[in-house]
Amino acid sequence: MRLRNVTGSRQMIADSRFVVHDPMEQKGHWKDVFGNENPIHIEIGMGKGQFLTRLAIANPDINYIGIEKYSTVLLRATQKLEEQELANLRLIRMEAETICDVFAEGEIAQIYLNFSDPWPKDRHAKRRLPSRQFLVRYDSILDKKGKILFKTDNTGLFDFALEELECAGWKLETMTRDLHHDEKLCTGNIMTEYEEKFSAMGTPICQYVIYR
Ligand code: SAH
Repeated sequence: MRLRNVTGSRQMIADSRFVVHDPMEQKGHWKDVFGNENPIHIEIGMGKGQFLTRLAIANPDINYIGIEKYSTVLLRATQKLEEQELANLRLIRMEAETICDVFAEGEIAQIYLNFSDPWPKDRHAKRRLPSRQFLVRYDSILDKKGKILFKTDNTGLFDFALEELECAGWKLETMTRDLHHDEKLCTGNIMTEYEEKFSAMGTPICQYVIYR
């Protein structure tokens, strides 16, 4: 997702109290950022932040961190957050490839990947967020019981993501190629911005939950 450049977006982000500006300094100390021992869940590629904001409101005993690489996109999320006080949600502007520099081993309890960029060219496969290269990084920062939840409208990306699991040592807990018509898996589902857009067009949503 790219949005029109907003003049001063970096400065506005710098001024936001919801954005953690020195994420590498917090490695191993994220509990101190929130001031409690609650588990930490992250969304990588959070976009404008609707999903995480709703989760944070619904689950005050879980801490959430949203990661987004574009400041123009992150800015939208910070603007929405200024309207409400959420002690359990923080945002980071960063490229997900460096995630192991920001979180210590086992520091994270759950990872959400929602409507990740498909990077359709074969030579870009390692940039896909559910690729084996990223699964190795997630393996390092997730605690032993940690899970990854991945949703997408893109069947090609979903097939790829399923193929990547075995060699990276991950196992399927659940999976569906039509989340919104799966009564059990859809219970309590919180929609992302992309999910609302694609499902309104009639596109089925794929989802997996994996563990190791
Ligand atoms: N999760 C949101 C947005 C999906 S679009 C939703 O479901 O509505 C994918 C988002 O991921 C974009 O905003 C894009 O900028 C971000 N993104 C993609 N690759 C990323 C990476 N490597 N690191 C950080 N953010 C990334």
